Amino acid sequence: MYKFSANYIYLGTGEILKYGIIKLNQDGEVTEIVDTKGVLKEEAGMQFYGGVIVPGFVNTHCHLELSHLRGEITKHTHLHGFIKELQSKRKQLSIEEIQKAAQTADKRMRAAGIVAVGDISNDAYTIAIKASSSIKYINFIETFGTNISKAEFLFSEAKKIQKEFTKKNLTAFVVPHAPYSLSKKLFELIKKNSEKENSILSIHNQETASEDDLFAKKKGELFEMFSSWGLDMNYIEHFAESSLKYYAPKMNKKSRTLLIHNTFTKASDIEFAEREFEQLSWAFCPKANLYIENKLPDIPLFREKATNICLGTDSLASNDNLSIVDEMLEIQKAFPQIPFTELLQWATINGAKALGLEQTLGSIEVGKKPGLNLISGFDFTNQTISSASKLSVLI
Ligand SMILES: [Zn+2]
Repeated sequence: MYKFSANYIYLGTGEILKYGIIKLNQDGEVTEIVDTKGVLKEEAGMQFYGGVIVPGFVNTHCHLELSHLRGEITKHTHLHGFIKELQSKRKQLSIEEIQKAAQTADKRMRAAGIVAVGDISNDAYTIAIKASSSIKYINFIETFGTNISKAEFLFSEAKKIQKEFTKKNLTAFVVPHAPYSLSKKLFELIKKNSEKENSILSIHNQETASEDDLFAKKKGELFEMFSSWGLDMNYIEHFAESSLKYYAPKMNKKSRTLLIHNTFTKASDIEFAEREFEQLSWAFCPKANLYIENKLPDIPLFREKATNICLGTDSLASNDNLSIVDEMLEIQKAFPQIPFTELLQWATINGAKALGLEQTLGSIEVGKKPGLNLISGFDFTNQTISSASKLSVLI
């Protein structure tokens, strides 16, 4: 049995206990939470730490299989530039080298206090790593292809990869890549499948300004790139006010759905999506947004209008580190008015809700196995983290 105490325990639910005590069994399941009302007495077997204890972090958006691309892709080239460079570099290494980088990234994420990851997978390369990892992975098997005649084939290939994951007891769902990269038919197949399997869905949303231009005007950087590839641009069947308004009718709106990035999402889009989708989460990957677009989403606007905000790191192709603390620090730097308690909920319980893991992870509550992190070097005056803060994993 474990007994941990610290200056403050942030439960992840918004509640904070000064000198609280958390008791857990051998499996890491919380058995008791003691509110000492700020008066801590010596107790046999109790380990006290200077700093704050928080639940394990949930990284709702990553691409583990791109971990070998750290430092390889040029910054600030916008999404169209990023995609071009990624296409040419993603398979330059052998599968073994790709797996080695993914294995290291998995270990580093755990050491950075991450207990669960929503991971985009285009291949089966990461299965063995995930099957033996102490991180809980929710795998999103990503499909794309704008040619209608190939939709059935692309979907069946994704189903094959999904089966390889589930054979190893890993949770996996077939999902669309992005609004601009799927034919109507491929969207339909995923929607039908998600209704049958009650899938969690994830889609990259409004990551670049030219994504809205593509659907509103058939113009812009993405349009030009796809045209230069010789794609038949008639896969975009009609104009729409925004990308989100274009593809929302093609999604299963009853599913838990993660919209990733949202860098160019406007108030009218947030309101629209909150009305349309029954179980919606908005995932922010601020460091990746700065890497690719050099722009952050309008996070204060989302605080006003969105129900569930969560955080992700994206991949090492667009980030120097897979750390949720670093993502929180980046948000804090840009929007210091956001309290740490709120940021922490985005990093923990909200992410767990987005990935369907809220019964076991995301907050320190009796019966859950959330994992515990210690943040030392905490700024007690302002009750927040700073670049001087250090993270260690307690359990
Ligand atoms: Zn991504």
